[in-house]
Order: sequence, then C-alpha cells, then structure tokens
Amino acid sequence: MARKLIAGNWKMNGNRATNAALLADVLQGLASGAPCDVAVCVPSVYLDQVSQIAAGTPLAWGAQDVSAKESGAFTGEISATMLKDFGVRFAIVGHSERRQYHGETDGVVAAKAQTALAHGITPIVCVGETLEQRDAGATEEVVKRQLAAVIHTVGHCVSEIVVAYEPVWAIGTGQTATPEQAQAVHAVLRAQLHAATEHASGMRILYGGSMNASNAADLLKQPDIDGGLIGGAALKAADFLTIIRAAA
Ligand code: PEP
Repeated sequence: MARKLIAGNWKMNGNRATNAALLADVLQGLASGAPCDVAVCVPSVYLDQVSQIAAGTPLAWGAQDVSAKESGAFTGEISATMLKDFGVRFAIVGHSERRQYHGETDGVVAAKAQTALAHGITPIVCVGETLEQRDAGATEEVVKRQLAAVIHTVGHCVSEIVVAYEPVWAIGTGQTATPEQAQAVHAVLRAQLHAATEHASGMRILYGGSMNASNAADLLKQPDIDGGLIGGAALKAADFLTIIRAAA
C-alpha cells in the first residue's frame, strides 16, 4: 500500500496575505514531519509564492488544471512546461467544476492527464457521479467510463496517476459519502486499475467531497481510501492538519 496523500484544493480562494498566513500555520503543524504525503493545489498565479514558501518543507504544491497543449495560441491556458518551471508536483485534472463549468469531456481530461505525465507532473484525475446519476443507479458506470478514458489514453503510464473519487453531490455541500459508500466505489476503481496495471495495489485513490476534521478518520480507515482531496477544509490550517494526522 502506498503512503497516503492529503491534497488541498484551494480552488479560486486566497490572496498573498492569506496564503502566507495559511501556509505558515500548516508548515508549523508539519514542523516535526508529515505523517503522510501532503500537497496544496493552488491558483496558478500563486505558484511562485507558494513554491518559495514551501520549498525544502514536507509540503508539495500543485496546480488545479493543466493545458493538454504544449504551447501556442491558447489564450488563458497554462502549459505543463510552465507549471514545471515552478516545481509543480501535481495537477488536478477533470475536477467536476471543470467538467461542469468549462465543458471538459472525458477525452479532454484524458489528454490533460497524458500531457501532465509527459512532463513529470502527477495528474490527480477526478471522477465522480452527480446526484441524478447516483439515484439512477449509474454511479459505477459513470466513474468507470471517466477512468477508462484516461487508462485508454495513457496506457501503461496509468500506474503513475493519482485517482480522486469525488461524488459531485458531496463537493462543497457538507454532504459526505459515508465511508461504506465511498469504499464501495473505491473498490470498483481499484478493480478497474488492477485490470489495467500490475501496480494497482500501490496506486492512490483519494476520496474528495466535504471531507473534514470530523469525518476524515472514518473515511481514511477504509481499505481502498488512500488519502483525500480536500476543498473547504484545506483553507483552515487546523482542520487541514487534523485531516493530515488522521491519515497517519
Ligand atoms: C474539491 O473541490 O475537490 C472538494 C473535495 O471540495 P470540498 O472538500 O469543499 O467538498
């Protein structure tokens, strides 16, 4: 089993002053070492700031998206090469907010994952069903379709990705999947990875969706939950640190 990973997703929050204060508190909490791998995925304009503060600490940093393209006339896009310039270790791809508000298809998400891998950036590939899909009994079919697109595109490199199961109905809503609900989907994803690579048992499948200081321990105890992708709770140092400790 791989070391657990707790990754914060700051989304479109923060400014120079709040970032510095949040990171100072998180790093103080990690001063005696981190019990698991820890990262923060921050708005790209703050990668320079975050990389300078976190360099040489147990805290890694990542982006919230990456272009599938290498360079050129793609206004507003940020390339993997640019992210590498700032020491980025991770890039979230296929977050449901990108799928929902920016029309990202499974194909686009897979291409982004492939580009990230080609540049030595670990894609955190998000999959998850909407409430309507869950109610229709389509959860398994949806997450498998989303992951299959990535597996098909990246081939044997799939062992290098991190998967995040993020039920859309649980993101930012305060409604968390129960540990049993999450574990059931994680087991499906693990089986799908096993069929694609012999390294599946060492891969990390994170849970994301209103994970917080109170529910993290129970979720992280599940056999196929290898960490968390944390939105709201990653903006509060004390809560983020509690989740990190729960992953020990
Ligand atoms: C997320 O956006 O990846 C997320 C899990 O958000 P939250 O923890 O706020 O539900």
